[in-house]
Amino acid sequence: MPLELVTIPALSDNYTYLLHDAKSGATACIDVPEADPILAELSKRGWSLTEIWLTHHHHDHIGGVDGLLAAHDAKVTGATADIHRLPPLNREVADGDVFMFGGEEVTVLDVSGHTNGHIAFSLPGSGYAFTADSLMALGCGRLFEGTAPQMWDSLQKLAALDPDTVICSGHEYTQANAKFAITIDPDNADLKDRIARINSARDRNEPTVPSTLAEELATNPFLRAADPEIQAQLDMIGEDPVDVFAEIRTRKDHF
Ligand SMILES: [Zn+2]
Repeated sequence: MPLELVTIPALSDNYTYLLHDAKSGATACIDVPEADPILAELSKRGWSLTEIWLTHHHHDHIGGVDGLLAAHDAKVTGATADIHRLPPLNREVADGDVFMFGGEEVTVLDVSGHTNGHIAFSLPGSGYAFTADSLMALGCGRLFEGTAPQMWDSLQKLAALDPDTVICSGHEYTQANAKFAITIDPDNADLKDRIARINSARDRNEPTVPSTLAEELATNPFLRAADPEIQAQLDMIGEDPVDVFAEIRTRKDHF
């Protein structure tokens, strides 16, 4: 039986996720903006939280850890690189590490850029990747600590996953990202279709995440820095995709 994924909105525009293995009863929570909506979902479903996986140290991703631990006996996993600014960890991980959850392999990817030490969790078996503030729906995280080449490398790791991978990212920024993306990639029919779907989802107050890697590859300008049409739009034909990515990131910062 495949792992069950639940998407939970939290704070003003964050998302957190539950991953549940019906067979063993194991349940993981990926990032903890605040405890209350997660506790409510667990109790509604009758699930006990067994694991907490943290992608990075920002408060809107770890702020509810203590609240969850007060109610559930869960083991906390996070990056060794961030141990000084994460809640106490039961399992430290680094790029390339693999651990098991619900009979499936979970691979840790270092996806630094937004912060140094930001990690993603990839489950090739059920096809989920938890990317938080690295690869986001139609966007990528702002470069608070890392450099453009670092984020480009991180995005390339995620872009190499199976295109059917379900991308579980950390925020509802998609509509704002769409307004920017169309300025970089105005003739992209897939992007126009996706924007229409995004707008109707938001009109119904529905999340625009998770997305799929295939959608992101076709429409996310931050993954498309090597695309000739985008390079032409930016007057950067034939230039190094890292530089094109850096230009797109800078434009977004000032959009
Ligand atoms: Zn963040």
